[in-house]
Amino acid sequence: MITENKELKKLNTLGLKAKARWFAQPADVASIKRVLSDTRFKGMPILVTGSGSNLLYSKDFNGLLIRPDITSITVTGEDKNSVYLRAGAGVNWDTFVAYCVDRGWGGVENLSHIPGCVGASPVQNIGAYGSEVADSVVSVEFIDLETHKESSLSNDECRFGYRDSIFKRELKSKTIITYVTFCLSKYPVINANYADVAAELSGLKEPGLYDVRKAIIDIRKRKLPDPEVIGNAGSFFKNPVVPEDMAFKLKNENSSLKVFSAQSGFSKIPAAWLIEQCGFKGKRFGNVGVHPNQALVLVAYEGATGEELINLAHSIQKSVLDKFSIEIEPEVNII
Ligand SMILES: Cc1cc2nc3c(=O)[nH]c(=O)nc-3n(C[C@H](O)[C@H](O)[C@H](O)COP(=O)(O)OP(=O)(O)OC[C@H]3O[C@@H](n4cnc5c(N)ncnc54)[C@H](O)[C@@H]3O)c2cc1C
Repeated sequence: MITENKELKKLNTLGLKAKARWFAQPADVASIKRVLSDTRFKGMPILVTGSGSNLLYSKDFNGLLIRPDITSITVTGEDKNSVYLRAGAGVNWDTFVAYCVDRGWGGVENLSHIPGCVGASPVQNIGAYGSEVADSVVSVEFIDLETHKESSLSNDECRFGYRDSIFKRELKSKTIITYVTFCLSKYPVINANYADVAAELSGLKEPGLYDVRKAIIDIRKRKLPDPEVIGNAGSFFKNPVVPEDMAFKLKNENSSLKVFSAQSGFSKIPAAWLIEQCGFKGKRFGNVGVHPNQALVLVAYEGATGEELINLAHSIQKSVLDKFSIEIEPEVNII
């Protein structure tokens, strides 16, 4: 069904008020193609979304918003060690994780409780607690928004990086991801390398997938604000990757700073630390602010506008640049 002037407040976790000129929620590939061929939308901008947990609406969207609603999960193959699953773009991400954990299939358990849909998971290569979706993705199927042709990219072709993929670069705003195929392990190796996860599991002799999933859900519930209670889009900024010598110099001058290894010759610096050092943590500015427990999370109080959030983001970026000569980039997609 196609809706006109759709209110998006409940379709973005920041809870920002905005409208889409047209809204469609097609449930299969044929319906997506029918919507794309509908002459009413010829030449209009198209925005594809899932749960809106990584989006900031700065204004109304004067085009066609498509939210693919393909909700199947199918086992497409297996061998001695692995099982292959093809999940529709509209499957809730955490439902997919629970589905895998329930069956004893490992690979995505550290990504428990990340909001959003399967279709968005490869876009920014979702990651948490030492794991990224790129570790489990076999291929991504999509429809080209211009030609309406179906294609698929292998894991390598997706060019996954830290919160990055081809879908944020060359194919940005050019595709509708319809299905993602994953490879899960029948003999999972527990990844408890993150200190928080290790601490949570420390009382258990041989933690299993359920234990990891529960530990991560518990940690996330403690650390991150619930969008149902206060509008937010998770981490607003990406952690900046800087030359190693710059990171070590900064670390030597600041004992509270932890740096993480990135690609050769570079280190990742927690953007939360930079923002906190600039004095933003816990501060409120009108209807928006920086969360008191997590400086990387910008929050939208009742009545907030996208413009207020963007202004706050710019002030934070400027302060970090002035103080540390480091540029921080938004992780959130600004529409
Ligand atoms: C409380 C909270 C915690 C979070 N924690 C994490 C975390 O730990 N790690 C992490 O990586 N992220 C995290 N996020 C961010 C977010 O959950 C992920 O980026 C998620 O994958 C977004 O899914 P979505 O369905 O909401 O996508 P949306 O926000 O709807 O869209 C995100 C982007 O993907 C595009 N897109 C969405 N669906 C499709 C599709 N089918 N085809 C083509 N393009 C599409 C959109 O155009 C947009 O550019 C968090 C967010 C919140 C609110």
